Amino acid sequence: MIADKFNRSLRDLRISVTDRCNFRCPYCMPAEIYGERYEFLPKASLLTFEEIARLTRIMVKLGVVKVRLTGGEPLVRNEIEKLIGLLSKIDGVEDLTLTTNAYLLKQMAQKLKDAGLQRITVSLDSMDDDVFKTMNGRGFGTERVIEGIVAAEQAGLSPIKINSVVQRGVNDHTLVELARFAKERGYIARFIEYMDVGNLNGWKLDQVVSAEEIVERISAELPLEPVPTESNYAGEVALRYRYADGEGEIGVIASVSKPFCGDCTRMRLSPEGQIFTCLFASVGTDLRTPMRDGASDEDLETIIRQTWGLRDDRYSEERSMLTEQPRKKVEMYHIGG
Ligand code: SAM
Ligand code: SF4
Ligand code: SF4
Repeated sequence: MIADKFNRSLRDLRISVTDRCNFRCPYCMPAEIYGERYEFLPKASLLTFEEIARLTRIMVKLGVVKVRLTGGEPLVRNEIEKLIGLLSKIDGVEDLTLTTNAYLLKQMAQKLKDAGLQRITVSLDSMDDDVFKTMNGRGFGTERVIEGIVAAEQAGLSPIKINSVVQRGVNDHTLVELARFAKERGYIARFIEYMDVGNLNGWKLDQVVSAEEIVERISAELPLEPVPTESNYAGEVALRYRYADGEGEIGVIASVSKPFCGDCTRMRLSPEGQIFTCLFASVGTDLRTPMRDGASDEDLETIIRQTWGLRDDRYSEERSMLTEQPRKKVEMYHIGG
């Protein structure tokens, strides 16, 4: 077990398997910046599945129990099920999951489950086709995403969580509809406060709908009550609410209005093998170069220990509640949500 400067242990690993994506959500990869000519990472610079599994094994030794695959869009990485197969066989990985926009999920859900994926989180910002078309930046309707979710359910991936980034004036009027959809189908909807990740999404504080307001607006139509915090697992970042009728629950992720840096036990691994100790970090620590230069597991473990030992990130707690962005940060699609 290792501890950082604020005595936070390392428990979660988020692996971004690609910087590419088939969507262009304006809050993450605005189409005007990530156009035809944008140069994504060349294949040779991406970690191989064996390299990712090796680093995961080392981090499990240091305390990681939860592993999430993300991106970019993880399902656009070729044969991602092979990576899941490798990770699911690592002793000590108690929870193996993936966050996806579900565009390719329908045809892949069973393969992912068979390879050892346990559960899945699907990002779906609205059930309203027009709103969704704007929010994915590609004009795709919701039908294919919903078919993907159904396929995941049929494949036995459980529980299914639905992530929705809430932006005032964009999709906040469709919150309740999404909550109702999830409730009726037994999925857990999770509403995320719009964050100032990266430097390119033009984030403004007045576009954030606070978790408190989200809960109030849903509760006005579908009454909610807080879930006692004792039932949370360590490192749970969502504030949980259950429906008063006993049928289901939601989570709200108050990263802006109620930051949770004190409980943040996450390491992020980028597609080309850098580790980042915070979603808002400016620089990462390169593991690919030493790995490809012949470093032993012990050498790599030392670098990871040192990086975690120096960790003093608490960006969200420090973020000024002003609209300007305090510093240059890595982009979200690069290190995953
Ligand atoms: N492409 C996959 C997807 O969208 O599910 C995985 C990667 S995506 C970067 C991971 C999560 O980050 C998604 O649920 C997405 O909605 C969320 N996200 C991206 N930009 C965000 C922002 N500015 N504020 C809050 N959440 C954001
Ligand atoms: Fe792609 Fe996910 Fe970012 Fe949307 S949020 S652009 S789906 S990586
Ligand atoms: Fe963790 Fe950084 Fe987010 Fe704080 S701002 S919760 S330290 S990732």
